[in-house]
Amino acid sequence: MTGITSTRLADGRELIYFDDAESPKPRTAETTTDHRDLPERGEPGEVRFDALTDEWVAVAAHRQTRTHLPPADQCPICPTTANNPSEIPAPDYDVVVFENRFPSLGPALGSVPADPAWGTTGPAYGRCEVVSFTPEHTGSFSGLSEARARTVVEAWSQRTEALSALAGIKQVFPFENRGADIGVTLHHPHGQIYAYPYVTPRAGVLGAAARRFYDQADGRQTLTGSLLAAERNDGGRMVMEGENFSAYVPFAARWPLEIHLVPHRQVPDLAALSGEEKDELAHVYLDLLKRLDALYPTPTPYISAWHQAPLDDVLRPASYLHLQLTSPRRAADKLKFLAGSEAAMGAFINDTTPESVAERLRAVVVPPSTPSPAAAPAAVPEGARA
Ligand SMILES: [Zn+2]
Repeated sequence: MTGITSTRLADGRELIYFDDAESPKPRTAETTTDHRDLPERGEPGEVRFDALTDEWVAVAAHRQTRTHLPPADQCPICPTTANNPSEIPAPDYDVVVFENRFPSLGPALGSVPADPAWGTTGPAYGRCEVVSFTPEHTGSFSGLSEARARTVVEAWSQRTEALSALAGIKQVFPFENRGADIGVTLHHPHGQIYAYPYVTPRAGVLGAAARRFYDQADGRQTLTGSLLAAERNDGGRMVMEGENFSAYVPFAARWPLEIHLVPHRQVPDLAALSGEEKDELAHVYLDLLKRLDALYPTPTPYISAWHQAPLDDVLRPASYLHLQLTSPRRAADKLKFLAGSEAAMGAFINDTTPESVAERLRAVVVPPSTPSPAAAPAAVPEGARA
């Protein structure tokens, strides 16, 4: 069992230690007390309703002052030392989750105004959390041991359950942005969890399609479940198949690199996975990240996005947990930028074929996971690259 200890930082923010099952760490007042003198937390920013699109936009101007690529000796998510009183008071940890000091949403909780129209605003309620995957400042998720990856899965699961229970929350979104090329502001391997007070635009589109399919099937089938079955049957876009999870490049992939990882059982979110499913998830997720990193000589920037069922009575029954792992990388030295067609019209043009990307990902000889936490990923022999 993962060891879970919740504490409070000097300004009242919650911080939770998730310690690997195999190495429980006693968490005492001495190692959990934050001795810094922090200013009081601010009021939430604002959400404004965009009547042109029926979408909420969060206005978070206060985030302009947030930490940007600090040097390693001032990293806010390394363990605390005498010279670096970081966000994490302990001298060591495995995985830690804490409320973001510069949140886009929160810290106050509540609901967005009902029946919004042009000019409707409200407080940016919700919660933004940071998930540090390792105490090591360098490396990446793909270099974590399987035991450590399993602890991260447990943290995602526990936070999904806890955040879903907060007042006004409509969607819980665990994600990782990897690589300065896509706007990462901290090098230390970490992810984030946003708890929104509304169903996000993308989740709304996916949710509506899923609900239509579910209704047409009289509630006996889900869209994601049937796509998974069709992809496994076809085989041409499959990347890997496990006992409880499979991954494929979607039929109409938008990004040069795009992988969907789907559980074989319909579950709404990470909190609904069984222990056995979480064990396998730690393994297959590492497998996918290693495949992605083996395609090119340097690490590939990516966005890893967990699509969980919105906390919405209409959308939730038809929703199906899955991961969308995407990268704008289209060559060793080229990134796809969202330009006119994509950014202005939302009309994607993909320069790769999903079938050829799947073939390249399948061909990777996946290096074994490192035995010790957070060691660098093993180099892949040149011949293993497609
Ligand atoms: Zn660090």
